[in-house]
Amino acid sequence: MKHYCEEKERVLEALKTTEAGLSGEEASQRQSREGKNKLREPKGKSLAARFLEQLADPMILILLAAAAVSGVLGYIEGEGYTDVIIILSVVLLNAILGVYQESKAEKAIEALQQMSAATCKVLRDGMLTVLPSEELVPGDVVLLEAGDAVPADGRLLQAAALKIEEAALTGESVPAEKTTDALQIAAGEHDVPLGDRRNMVYMGSSVVYGRGVAVITGTGMNTEMGKIADALAQAEDGDTPLQIKLRQLSKILTWLVLGICLAIFAVQMLRAGGLSLRTTLQMLLAGGLSLRTILDSLMIAVSLAVAAIPEGLAAVVTVVLSLGVTHMAKRNAIIRKLSAVETLGCAQIICSDKTGTLTQNKMTVVDFFGDNEADTASAMALCSDAELGEHGEVTGEPTEAALVVWANKLGRDKNVLKSKYLRCAEAPFDSLRKCMSTVHVDGDGFVQYTKGAPDVVLSLCTHYWKDGKAQPMTEEARALILKRNKAMADRALRVLACASRSWDAKPADSSPSALEQDLCFMGLCGMIDPVRPEVAEAIVHCRTAGIRPIMITGDHVDTAAAIARELGILSGDAKAITGSQLSRMDDETFEKEFRNISVYARVQPEHKTRIVKAWQKAGYVTAMTGDGVNDAPSIKSADIGVGMGITGTDVTKSAADMVLADDNFATIVGAVEEGRRIYDNIRKAIQFLLGANMSEIITIFTATLLGFTILKPVHLLWVNLITDTFPALSLGVEKGEADIMRRPPRPAKAGIFADGMGWDILYQGVLVSALTLCAYLVGCHAETGAWRFVNSGVGTTMAFVTLSMAEIFHSFNMRSQRKSLFSLKGVNLLLLASAALSLLLTAAVCEIPALAAAFSFTGLSLKQFGLALAIGFAVIPVVEIVKLFQRMAAKR
Ligand code: ATP
Repeated sequence: MKHYCEEKERVLEALKTTEAGLSGEEASQRQSREGKNKLREPKGKSLAARFLEQLADPMILILLAAAAVSGVLGYIEGEGYTDVIIILSVVLLNAILGVYQESKAEKAIEALQQMSAATCKVLRDGMLTVLPSEELVPGDVVLLEAGDAVPADGRLLQAAALKIEEAALTGESVPAEKTTDALQIAAGEHDVPLGDRRNMVYMGSSVVYGRGVAVITGTGMNTEMGKIADALAQAEDGDTPLQIKLRQLSKILTWLVLGICLAIFAVQMLRAGGLSLRTTLQMLLAGGLSLRTILDSLMIAVSLAVAAIPEGLAAVVTVVLSLGVTHMAKRNAIIRKLSAVETLGCAQIICSDKTGTLTQNKMTVVDFFGDNEADTASAMALCSDAELGEHGEVTGEPTEAALVVWANKLGRDKNVLKSKYLRCAEAPFDSLRKCMSTVHVDGDGFVQYTKGAPDVVLSLCTHYWKDGKAQPMTEEARALILKRNKAMADRALRVLACASRSWDAKPADSSPSALEQDLCFMGLCGMIDPVRPEVAEAIVHCRTAGIRPIMITGDHVDTAAAIARELGILSGDAKAITGSQLSRMDDETFEKEFRNISVYARVQPEHKTRIVKAWQKAGYVTAMTGDGVNDAPSIKSADIGVGMGITGTDVTKSAADMVLADDNFATIVGAVEEGRRIYDNIRKAIQFLLGANMSEIITIFTATLLGFTILKPVHLLWVNLITDTFPALSLGVEKGEADIMRRPPRPAKAGIFADGMGWDILYQGVLVSALTLCAYLVGCHAETGAWRFVNSGVGTTMAFVTLSMAEIFHSFNMRSQRKSLFSLKGVNLLLLASAALSLLLTAAVCEIPALAAAFSFTGLSLKQFGLALAIGFAVIPVVEIVKLFQRMAAKR
């Protein structure tokens, strides 16, 4: 059936439904037949593909090369294949872990997306209910309002000034105006083109203006969107800037490592040739160099490669990020783009809406000025989309609901009013006009009520009601109304005005410009909207954290300023200005002024974009909240676009980087704190892991130059994957440092190695490597009685214990880059546990004979083991002393 060519009654009949929608039972039956209203998800990568992806990594290839060399060596020497087995198991384990971590991280992100999944307003059992859009079935009747995403395909039953943006389907970016009339196929055509179906709405489009009611005709893959779904590129959440930088870093590292390996290989070969290039070449050509020598040299080169590559790095970063976003979701901040986690830590400016974000959005009318309070309240209740339930409960937007409650308190029941004065036309509210109008049947004639911002409504009034009679508006009356408006606004009340207009016949044109003129002023009402109790404290946190809060609101400047003052947003010399003052400022003036302005009132959505751009141009990282349909552009242009989970429209939520589940300003500040903590922790993990690689490189390099083999690739693999990865992950969940919200935001341009981290990695690498070599020397002495570096089993085992233990002890140093370990409050239980586990495992491979043999370790005496451990421990006092000097230098 071509639903757009039929009258709506026929469509309802064909879909076996009515304007009151389906019953819950019928809907669930239909759902079991039709399936859920969602597009088929693009096929995820298969397990095998994911597994192979893990193996296609230069580091894995190097490890496989190591396994091959070990295999050949094992074959020639008849030493068995233990090394090969160990290396291959490590590769396997690493790939399995990689697949596991990757899918876990993906699941975490998916769960988040579920949390911000779209909902729709649908009539079920005759009641308006909000359901996940997935639950829709053909025959459901849905309500559409500005900012809503159209949840499925539908035929319109009602349309009041409804405009829908269908660019995703038709490519047409100008919103299409909708009607409910049946369409006809033009002569000579066989169908109405999609873009011309003015009585249909389609999944994937969004309502930009007005209101509508539609019956669902197609869901899921049976929608127009479903037909092209397979062709749609799934929006991928790419890597974060940090992950990209890290990937570049590992590329550089890989090449560097290959270079060093080649150099070491060459040195080894030269050494075999008595350090003469000519002899070496001659020997090579004449086959004078044994395969064993070549393989040995290769083995050393491969060890170095294993030592230098930070195997765990990418995984650790992914895990820390995904744990971080899950933790943030528990604090009501739902991350939609992973990169926001990093950007949050740099935020310098937070531009916030007032209503609902700084305040509770719990409106109560507490003041009135006008001719007749009960009449004004009735008029406002009629000109409101909030509804009164059977038991006195009110549903709808809080401002509108407050008016219905107010009227009810004055004995005017909205349901009674509604049936007496039937609504027959309307110009819906929009935040550009800041008012709305409805037209009602009134006996033989018609009456129009307009309510909205007092300044706007008053400017449309030519008369005012006095003692039940319409009087021409005078300057005096106008001044009095404005004075009362200001008095209410100064008390932080949200003020709304109401006016009326009578019509003999139903207005032919119900556009705002036709309705909203020649009005007669009825009265003002003032509502309180208490501030959220936690916000004042959050603002103090902002200030100490070097973040500037700015209020941007559609409300009156005096109301806004009063609340901003109460919250501490407006203080000192900072100014509050209005949107029209902003419009009058040219760019040059504004660029000089914007730093002094903390409150913007009566703004239009495009002002928000201008404010964000001004701050960004001056180099500030800016977060911006938004809820309305027109806020999407400013949210998109902000560095961190923040959508509202409760009051936000689908359009803004899908444009946002982060969604607040509770609409609360304090949640943004909490998210900034989390963002700082996560970034800090990732840096700690990076410093720790790269420091470990550095120490291994220096150790192997020095040993090779001095002519002995200190550690084999399997030993290094063990250290990198066991004693390094667990502590690094534990560092990733470290609590925020005490001063985390007392220091300024991290500069956005600061690289990974900022604040001297590069130097720290270098000196700490040198330190651990010195300790490892020292332990080796002690081992040599124990075995040979001489203080000389020679090949030594005890030396290797002691070096291994010292290196592993130094790493574990060092992970405690890394709990803070500069602060003393002993000044940190709280314990990192996970770190303690992973240290204990690593210690146990290290002891096991050294002391359990079968394992020790597999790793070619020599059993250590208790004294030797203790000594190796003690040498490793030295990393704590030395780093503490260096930190002390660093802190002293920073103070100076
Ligand atoms: P914020 O931008 O901080 O959320 P806001 O909610 O006041 O502030 P808008 O929703 O754009 O911003 O409202 C702007 C003005 O329009 C309000 O100050 C009020 O005077 C008027 N207004 C708000 N809601 C309605 C409504 N439902 N009907 C008529 N006028 C309204």
